[in-house]
Amino acid sequence: VGWWDHVGVAPKDPINGVTEAFLVDCSPNKINLGVGAYRDDEGKPVVLQCVREAEAKIAGSEFLESISSAVSSKFVEESVKLVYGKDSDVVNEGRFSGIQALSGTGACRLFAEFQRRFYPKSRIYFPHPTWSNHHNIWRDAQIPESTFHYYHPNSKGLNFAALMSDNAPDGSFFLLHPCAHNPTGVDPTEEQWREISCQFKAKNHFPFFDMAYQGLASGDLDSDAQAIIFLEDGHLIGCAQSFAKNMGLYGHRVGCLSVLCNDAKQAVAIKSQLQHIARAMYGGPPIHGALLVSTILSDLDKKALWVKEVKTMASRIQKMRGSLRACLEELGSFVNWEHITNQVGLFCFSGLTADQVDRLATEFHIYMTRDGRMSMAGVTTGNVSYLANSIHEVTV
Ligand code: PMP
Repeated sequence: VGWWDHVGVAPKDPINGVTEAFLVDCSPNKINLGVGAYRDDEGKPVVLQCVREAEAKIAGSEFLESISSAVSSKFVEESVKLVYGKDSDVVNEGRFSGIQALSGTGACRLFAEFQRRFYPKSRIYFPHPTWSNHHNIWRDAQIPESTFHYYHPNSKGLNFAALMSDNAPDGSFFLLHPCAHNPTGVDPTEEQWREISCQFKAKNHFPFFDMAYQGLASGDLDSDAQAIIFLEDGHLIGCAQSFAKNMGLYGHRVGCLSVLCNDAKQAVAIKSQLQHIARAMYGGPPIHGALLVSTILSDLDKKALWVKEVKTMASRIQKMRGSLRACLEELGSFVNWEHITNQVGLFCFSGLTADQVDRLATEFHIYMTRDGRMSMAGVTTGNVSYLANSIHEVTV
């Protein structure tokens, strides 16, 4: 017997599997609604102009090990300002521990590990449903999971009443999507966030925000951080930030994990623990992407350009939501498609059944995850009517 004879094939990732199926399809009409990354109206990935300018500015930089911690600190400082606000007390008073992480996934993974070390008996509460990889990340950190009510299949919106009546024990860890919830596209309103914050305070829950799409829900970076009003109730929150989608830096794996603290002294201790965990997992993070992000965020012109480009991306998605819904309604569909425009961000949780999803793939060459999640970034002016016709065919 050989060393690895007992190793079988790992389960397929539900999201990557969609792209694989799409790639082997030879139809000229094929559409990939699986990927959660932005595409332009030609269906192509985009390199933002602000990123091109930042690349030009840093060209020739020497990525010496001696400057990597300075680059990381600058990056963290700019990232936390983006999410908590540049004038927020936590930032001004240094009441946070921030560390550069391997994109949003890596930030979540680091936090999960931190949680296990310092709250070894705790669980994590996920919204139902949530991004499929959340389950993997906390499982590998050996933190058991539970879910809380979130989505209402009938309204295809938020089940706020059920969310508020959830009965997790006091002092539980909760994962929240601050905007552009994946996979549902359903976000609480500002008023609802306030009520959730109030309830969490009363129950002493810990809110961990997984911010993977800041700017891509409303088109405005600050509005998309509205959930951070939790700070007003004095919560110490944790936050994972990703620049994969809103700066189109997917391949650079650039993200930030921050944990708010009581004071600057505690911040030093927590940061040292996070670094300690990271060091054993992957040494340190790569420097190039972090330098791009901090170059953009710390330069007024480049930042303004980025803000504009984020708005353009979000507007294109919003426009495609409008077109898809209008096309379906024109076809005389009996299904109510209001949720296509009510939901926000990259995803539309269509309500299509797994059978309908399978028919779209086999008969119409349209690919999405079997939960009916469509990435609206895959919808273009050129394919929206074909998509609407096909959805209509499988839903009549
Ligand atoms: N959280 C959520 C909710 C996501 O949708 C994603 C991306 N699919 C991530 C985190 C992490 O993305 P990345 O690691 O590419 O930044």
